[in-house]
Amino acid sequence: MDWRYLIALGSNQRHHRHGAPRQVLRAAIAALGGHRITVEAASPIVASTPLGPSRRRYANAAVLLRSSFDPDALLDRLKAIEHSFGRRTGGQPWRARVLDLDIVLWEFGCWSSPGLTIPHTAFRTRGFVVLPGVALAAHWRDPVTGLTLRQIAARLTRPRPLPKRGAW
Ligand code: AMP
Repeated sequence: MDWRYLIALGSNQRHHRHGAPRQVLRAAIAALGGHRITVEAASPIVASTPLGPSRRRYANAAVLLRSSFDPDALLDRLKAIEHSFGRRTGGQPWRARVLDLDIVLWEFGCWSSPGLTIPHTAFRTRGFVVLPGVALAAHWRDPVTGLTLRQIAARLTRPRPLPKRGAW
């Protein structure tokens, strides 16, 4: 049995062999395909500003893949790929990262196990995840909010109403 997944990729550090973050993502997309994983489509690679105090810009992308791995097994595979690109565990969440791979959505809906939550808990507020996702699967519905990726993207980019008078 095969499942479809939406995966987010990020890099903000050069790799000694692959080169700049953009090239790291290209190499990572190539590395994803293989045993029990088929990459069906890859988004364009975009640049985004870092979330934390790090000043390095990120390269981000998304891929749609099909796999017979269940979510825990797929996460193990993603961690093995991160490791093979020199990613080390631990440290501050905003530290430079050679490669970050996250499972954003899974076609069967929600998954929760120790160390893995799908949909990814922070993805809805991250344009650098949602916008590449829209390029691949605009109509895919987030099982938690019921919104499509396109609708989530529209909420991200629409100006928010001002807070009530007196609240600021
Ligand atoms: P990060 O530093 O962003 O790579 O995330 C660190 C940890 O988040 C990983 O070791 C995973 O165990 C955990 N995690 C929880 N949910 C997810 C998800 N949907 N995709 C990837 N990692 C996840």
